[in-house]
Amino acid sequence: MTTTMDPSLDVLAMNGGRAVRTTKFPVVYDGSGRLFDDLELGYLREVLASGALGRWGGTKTLALEKAWAERAGCRHALAVSSGSASIHVALRALQLPRGSHVITSPITDIGTVLGIFNSGLVPRFVDVDPSTGLIDPDAIDRRGAAAILPVHLFGQTDGIERIHSLGLPVIEDASQAHFSTFAGQCAGSTGAFGCFSLQQSKVVSCGEGGIVVTNDDGLEALARLAHNKGWDKDVAGPRAYRFIGSNYRMSELQAAVALAQLSKANEIIARRRTSFAALTGALRGIPGIRLPVETPGRVNSWWSFWMRIDESKFTTTPGRMVAALRAEGIPFALGYIGHPLYRTEAVVAELGNTRPLPGAEDFCRTVATLSWNERIERRDADDVAAAVQKVVDAFARRGV
Ligand SMILES: *Cc1c(COP(=O)(O)O)cnc(C)c1O
Repeated sequence: MTTTMDPSLDVLAMNGGRAVRTTKFPVVYDGSGRLFDDLELGYLREVLASGALGRWGGTKTLALEKAWAERAGCRHALAVSSGSASIHVALRALQLPRGSHVITSPITDIGTVLGIFNSGLVPRFVDVDPSTGLIDPDAIDRRGAAAILPVHLFGQTDGIERIHSLGLPVIEDASQAHFSTFAGQCAGSTGAFGCFSLQQSKVVSCGEGGIVVTNDDGLEALARLAHNKGWDKDVAGPRAYRFIGSNYRMSELQAAVALAQLSKANEIIARRRTSFAALTGALRGIPGIRLPVETPGRVNSWWSFWMRIDESKFTTTPGRMVAALRAEGIPFALGYIGHPLYRTEAVVAELGNTRPLPGAEDFCRTVATLSWNERIERRDADDVAAAVQKVVDAFARRGV
């Protein structure tokens, strides 16, 4: 990439040099990073032609649920309106006593905990392993907890086996791990419930949407009620509202797009994995950059690329290095959610200020993420690697 003929490329773009990347990097927020085409359009036309746009009377939501259950290796899948809704529905279905504690990660989207608060439950944040951002099963004190809600951050499933061995009901937040596998099993398929988001940025998307999976017939029936206002439609006579649910139904329009996307999931994941492997391969061995590792027996669908910046190896902060990478034309971000969830205003309003967790703090301070997608090609990965190398060279602490 670097040519000695053109010295301006050696100067950081943030200091007036030439940027490594001058064309748009593919992003999930628009068509540049997504595989939406005539298949989605065809299903949408069918829905419109049928005139049945809501779940009742439609066919696409039912087809999506059947296909998702098959793909995930579960008895049941329930389509809902968002990933946050999927978690709320799962928690409502578990019928935990009010005030019960649910163990979860502080490094996640707020959608992981909205359903906890909205069910009258209390999140109990446990620390993460800073080398993965996943909750550390050894740091968990399960006493007094009613359930555990691990997050498969960035598509990783490490530690889930040990989490199961704690003996609590498990809700897997697989919103970032569509069809990641461990020991041949799909993320989300091994707990009481698995929850997925189909929001715009997720591996399989319909803009907004979610899926709940379970192998338990009784839990499935309760989840179905919970997402439909608590309304048992099988009961004749006066409407049978069995408990306070919500309207979290998916529309047929969302389901049309999700169904088309699901049929492309293998291709989407294969493309993400190929470009991700190209990038990690190109970055391997760069001092001060810690790369994600796919541990044996796991296949990760890699929602996001991420790397940790070893502060001791550089003359500046991770924040300034991320700013330098952005100036080079690569849209990295620092800290994923910026700070652990227990610091966020909404959570502080509920729980007060809680004790900082060192692994979580460390992770947010040093992780740089680059939202990954199925349109990223080898040449894009090469640009990312060139930008990282350039920024590392500019800020490397010599002689350490
Ligand atoms: C996206 C996401 C959610 C929330 O999903 P929405 O569809 O945005 O409501 C929950 N948990 C995780 C880990 C997520 O990435």
